[in-house]
Amino acid sequence: MQLEQLGEFALIDLIKRDTINKADSVMIGIGDDAAVLKSTPGRLQLVTTDMLVEKVHFDLSTSSAWQLGYKAIGVNLSDIAAMGGVPNHVVISIALPKHLPVDFVVSLYDGMKEICREFGVNIVGGDTVSSPHGLIINVTVLGEVEADKLQRRSGARVGELVVVTGTLGDSGCGLDLLMQGDWQIYSFASSLVSRHLVPKPQVLQGQMLATLGSTSMNDISDGLASEVNEIAHASNVGMRIYSSLIPLSPELQEAALLFGKTAVHYALYGGEDYQLVFTIAPEKFKVLAQVDIGTPLTVIGEVTERSEGILLVAEDGRTSVLEAKGYNHFC
Ligand code: ADP
Ligand code: MG
Repeated sequence: MQLEQLGEFALIDLIKRDTINKADSVMIGIGDDAAVLKSTPGRLQLVTTDMLVEKVHFDLSTSSAWQLGYKAIGVNLSDIAAMGGVPNHVVISIALPKHLPVDFVVSLYDGMKEICREFGVNIVGGDTVSSPHGLIINVTVLGEVEADKLQRRSGARVGELVVVTGTLGDSGCGLDLLMQGDWQIYSFASSLVSRHLVPKPQVLQGQMLATLGSTSMNDISDGLASEVNEIAHASNVGMRIYSSLIPLSPELQEAALLFGKTAVHYALYGGEDYQLVFTIAPEKFKVLAQVDIGTPLTVIGEVTERSEGILLVAEDGRTSVLEAKGYNHFC
């Protein structure tokens, strides 16, 4: 059945099952003019939103509806993670072509509901409209953070370490594999492709890092180069990033050769890894390094005086300016 046969209201009825995973924080979810939520006294409120547009952010020939739903929520949870916060609720607005099968939307929401279950997040509302062109999904997440755990980009101080979670570059290379098409023939490809299609936001990790002394944090959505530039500029400091220290998966190192790029290039400029980059004092890192936060931590550089600039140190010791060459929608 297509959406034009089902209609808006029956579709919302289909969607609204299994949307509450943290019942004590919601009085009214889907079904009234507005959701009614309970906040935790003493906590700060976090709000973030991201829009995904067909052919700009995703392609239905390379992503299933379920994967798209999972990722649409995941990229937003990642922004809450990067503030050191706890995500609580999402609202989801979708613009849908009339000829889309109802099953597609059900599957899209199944992906969304899965990640919301994993992270204890409620779906409390949204908006549903028709689109004469492609599919558009806008997700807004509401979260909370204790004031002393809040992670801003502006908190980095000279002498601190620059640290990242996980491995970087996998998602960008996964996208190249998807665009090339025949990735199934390579044994190393499937982990890279899933890093691109269903990224895992580092939500618990963000909270633990904030508790254990990180001073500034960003999620890595536009490539490491862009994210460290954002932290350095906001904190008014310089940085030295050592390219030989950047954590790269063995799969990426093999796959990068196919595209004539280096694995480090994917890590710096590839984007959509949704890992975290943060700064922390060396003595605090000693303690943190003993704690299992569920993902590896790697020191990749240090915070320097602003006058020293934002530098990439190559394996042979030569330095170059690390430019923020992330994706830009209008240029
Ligand atoms: P109104 O006309 O008052 O804006 P709607 O008919 O648009 O309300 O929506 C009815 C209920 O369904 C509201 O609670 C709204 O938040 C929710 N809702 C609508 N579309 C979606 C969606 N795509 N995902 C989740 N909830 C939705
Ligand atoms: Mg109304």
